[in-house]
Amino acid sequence: MSNQIRTRIAPSPTGNLHLGTARAALFNYLFAKKHDGKFILRIEDTDLERSDPRFEKDILEGLRWLGITWDEGPINPTQPPLKIRGGKEGLYIGKFGPYRQSERIETYKKYLQKLLDENKAYYCFCAESELEKERESQKTVGAPPKYSGKCANLGAQELKDLKKQGKKSVIRFRIPKNRKVKFKDLIRGDLEFDSNLIGDIVIAKDLNTPLYNFAVVIDDYLMQISHIIRGEDHISNTPKQILMQEALGFPTLEFAHLPLILGPDRTKLSKRHGATSLNEYKKTGYLPEAMLNFMAFLGWNPKTKKEVFSKEELVAEFALTGVGKSGAIFNIERLDWINGLYVRRMGIDKLTELCVPYLVEAGYIQKIPNSKFQIPNKFQIQNYKMIKTDKKISFKDLEKVIALEQERIKKLSEIPKVLDFYFKKDIEYEPDLLIWKKTDKNKIRKNLEILQKFLESLPEKDFEKKNLEKKIKNLIAKEKMGVGEALWPVRVALSGKQGSPGPFEIIEVLKKERTLDRIRGAILKLSKNIP
Ligand code: GLU
Repeated sequence: MSNQIRTRIAPSPTGNLHLGTARAALFNYLFAKKHDGKFILRIEDTDLERSDPRFEKDILEGLRWLGITWDEGPINPTQPPLKIRGGKEGLYIGKFGPYRQSERIETYKKYLQKLLDENKAYYCFCAESELEKERESQKTVGAPPKYSGKCANLGAQELKDLKKQGKKSVIRFRIPKNRKVKFKDLIRGDLEFDSNLIGDIVIAKDLNTPLYNFAVVIDDYLMQISHIIRGEDHISNTPKQILMQEALGFPTLEFAHLPLILGPDRTKLSKRHGATSLNEYKKTGYLPEAMLNFMAFLGWNPKTKKEVFSKEELVAEFALTGVGKSGAIFNIERLDWINGLYVRRMGIDKLTELCVPYLVEAGYIQKIPNSKFQIPNKFQIQNYKMIKTDKKISFKDLEKVIALEQERIKKLSEIPKVLDFYFKKDIEYEPDLLIWKKTDKNKIRKNLEILQKFLESLPEKDFEKKNLEKKIKNLIAKEKMGVGEALWPVRVALSGKQGSPGPFEIIEVLKKERTLDRIRGAILKLSKNIP
């Protein structure tokens, strides 16, 4: 076996990509890349009833979105688009494939047979109801549940008879007695388990249906995995897997068990705390760079003050020695903070491109079919129809609108709400919102009227922040208006909001006609509201 570092993520496609799996994948990826090793993706779909190609697709797409690309796996990660599996197999990448357990049944069968032949595994005919009773009585005397070993020494004739009767059976691995199973966990240090506390475990339902604990041992060996980095919830499986490696004559490998991800209340992260599937974070408009950063800190401490890392920097700085034993607290505010940082750093063209789907979904814009040839940067030439106002907007103008909020939003899904005033025809707000502090209503209305007249007199080309700001500030000084008394109502008249971008920024995107319509609307509101 070579000395190359080979790590793996081995998800079971029984649900969407879980945050915990994504974090484990990241740590495996970083560790492998840091040591010029290989990162392998293996789909553990031995549970055919619960496995679903839809979930496999979600897992693969999620990892790819995060940029956690595998060197070996069931498909090539660089080949878009990912198709839902079906029919044609054998498209895997890597020389140890196939990488789906459901496609490796013949291999497991060989090793199962070997264990049976060597009497290291045996058929067990105990019915579930019997086992249940056994567990119950162990419970009443306070003993940990453990298989009694009733079928461990069936004679050849007995076995034949039971089979003949058509009695259902499973295959159990014979756990050697009186063994201290020791291993050095790269995160948790020396660990020791007493083999007498582990009952003979079921490793297959039959020769064609292996179970996790067995298949994982075979695959990690055949795929030449050097390090198993996985969640702490698998610690109790490790001694069982080590004993099977020994029984099969496989060399043992390194283990590192990652701390659990906990919610802010320090209980295991679950739906109760919010989204646990990566997909939901993606839909909410978190960026992959931010997710990567955030997940790296779920258990790992770089031991510097540095808080933001690119993927390459993570690869360079990651070390298992920086991973702690205690639970990693999931803090959504931190994720929001990092995401906001990446949103601010992003080019406005890219940000706009990413925000478009949210505006489409909110029913604010739709693509105007483009008959032109596909031009490389096709987003830049795309035009949209604004559904509520029936006006056209170019990608370039959309960039200006999105730019209004680039500094403020934390995640992309906030965009439709914070910019609704732009996309809506009419905005709704309470007239009182127009009042600056304790100013008199009449005064506010008068100020708006002065500003209205002034804006009416300006040519369209002056509706641009740079010129307008100076001109309006001069007007405010000339008319001896208070700055708050003049600009607060304008901003509210344009946005309908307590908080929004500044009035000049909004005027620049609304332009003359829409700006004046809204100021007139505000004046009307105040007139109606005056006793
Ligand atoms: N299929 C197992 C899981 O999804 C993999 C555990 C392991 O990494 O060994 O939990």
